Amino acid sequence: MVDHLTPEQRHVVMSKIRSKDTLPERVVRKTVHGLGFRFRLHRKDLPGKPDLVFPRMKKVIFVNGCFWHGHKCKSTPKSNVEFWEEKLRRNVTRDKKKLRDLRKLGWTPLVVWECRTRNLEKLEAILSHFLER
Ligand SMILES: [Zn+2]
Repeated sequence: MVDHLTPEQRHVVMSKIRSKDTLPERVVRKTVHGLGFRFRLHRKDLPGKPDLVFPRMKKVIFVNGCFWHGHKCKSTPKSNVEFWEEKLRRNVTRDKKKLRDLRKLGWTPLVVWECRTRNLEKLEAILSHFLER
């Protein structure tokens, strides 16, 4: 997939991958813990393998990297525009489908965007609103 990337682009890609599953997800887990909720991680039997799963409440949380999941806070890279637009569009479509599939199974999903994990106060408000309702 990345054969036609320049080293510079590859570096951008790799740094996005690194930041994707580590820090924002850890921040969310820690905050949810702090609110006193227990959860399971990455249940493979659920659509999209949600990052945090609350089996009794039938709620799940996805922590989405803004770049890969096409959040509006990011713009498409300036080179290989068609490649990226196509790739990110596919990711967005896949994300919508997994949320739909989860709802059909009776689960309530929440997507937490990476950019929302930088303000801990707001993040805590989002999470407690979702988990306590
Ligand atoms: Zn974002």
